[in-house]
Amino acid sequence: MPALILDGTRIAQEIRTEVAAEAKSMAAAGVRPGLAVVLVGHNPASEIYVRGKVKACEEVGIYSEKLTPSESVSTAELLAIIEDLNRRDEVDGILVQLPLPSQVDSKKVLLAVDPTKDVDGFHPMNVGFLSTQRPGLVPCTPAGVIEILKRSNIPIAGQDAVVVGRSDIVGKPAAMLLTNANATVTICHSKTRDLPGVCRRADILVAAIGKAGMITKDFVKRGATVIDVGMNTVTDPAEFQSFFAGNAKREETFRKKGSTLIGDVHPEVAEVAGALTPVPGGVGPLTIAMLMFNAAKAAKMRRGSRVPELSRA
Ligand code: NAP
Repeated sequence: MPALILDGTRIAQEIRTEVAAEAKSMAAAGVRPGLAVVLVGHNPASEIYVRGKVKACEEVGIYSEKLTPSESVSTAELLAIIEDLNRRDEVDGILVQLPLPSQVDSKKVLLAVDPTKDVDGFHPMNVGFLSTQRPGLVPCTPAGVIEILKRSNIPIAGQDAVVVGRSDIVGKPAAMLLTNANATVTICHSKTRDLPGVCRRADILVAAIGKAGMITKDFVKRGATVIDVGMNTVTDPAEFQSFFAGNAKREETFRKKGSTLIGDVHPEVAEVAGALTPVPGGVGPLTIAMLMFNAAKAAKMRRGSRVPELSRA
C-alpha cells in the first residue's frame, strides 16, 4: 500500500486559523502582536521568504514591519537596529532573515536579539530552555515537524526516531523536541557509519540533510513515518528524470519552469513508508505557520501578564 501523504498545507492552515483567533482575542484585550523582519540587501530567495512572512502576518492579524538595511551594512549598524527593536514594546518578535552578508558577524547579531522576542528560537537562551523543557520560543521548522506528527495522530512516545542532520536550525532542535516527546532518538550526520542501517531502525525518520533524494527505499523500514525537511532545486533534466520519470504533473511543471523542488527523500520511498510528507506541501508550509504561532506566543509571554483577560487564558 502506498504511504499516507501527510498534508502540511492543511495542517499549516489549521494552525494559522488558531493563531488568527488568538490574535483577535489579544487585540480585543488591547495587545496587537507585532513582528519586525530585518531583510538585508537584495537576496532574491530571502526577498521571497520575507514576502511570504509579511503576507502571513496580514492574514492572521499580526502587525508587521519590514526593515531593509543595505547590503553594505556593518555589524555595528545592525546591532543598533536590533537594540532599537529590543527596546520597542509594541515589537514582540524580531526575525533577522539569513543569510547575512559576509562582512556581518551573524552570530553576534543573533545573540543581540532579546530572547523573549527571538521568534526564530535561535538564541542560546531559547536553546537552553528547549533542552531543559522550560517555556520558550522553539525554532519554527522543527516545531512544525512535531505539529505534523501530533496532528496526524502519529505516536511519538516510545518510538525509535532517527534524525539525519545536526544543524542548529533543524536537526538538533528536532531531535530535542522528539526526545522531550519521549521518543528514543538517534542523530546522524555525514560521519555516521552505516547510515542506511541506522535509518532502517526508525519508526520515525526525519531527513534534514540538503541532498536531493538521498534517502532511498533502502533507508526506510516498511511502515515507518518519514518527514522530509529537505528543500532542493533540481534543474538538470537527467537528474529530474532519475526522480520523476513518468510523473506527468511534475514533467509539465519542469517543462514550464525549468526546475522543480525535491526533498531529501527519494519519491520511491512512498512504496515502503507508512506515512510521508510531500515536497512541496509538507514541512515547508509549517515553517511560516509556526513563525506566526511564535509571534503570538511572544506577545502573550511578554505582554499578556500585564493584561488581566490574557493572563487568565
Ligand atoms: P545544513 O546546516 O547544511 O545541515 C545539513 C546536515 O546534514 C549536517 O548535519 C550534515 O552533516 C548532514 N549531512 C550532509 N550530508 C550528509 C550525508 N551524506 N550523510 C549524512 N548526513 C549528511 O542544513 P539545514 O539548514 O539543517 O537544512 C537541511 C535541509 O532542510 C536543506 O535542504 C534545507 O533547505 C531544508 N530546510 C527546509 C526548511 C523548511 O521550511 N522546509 C527550513 C530549513 C531548512 P555534518 O554536520 O556532518 O556536516
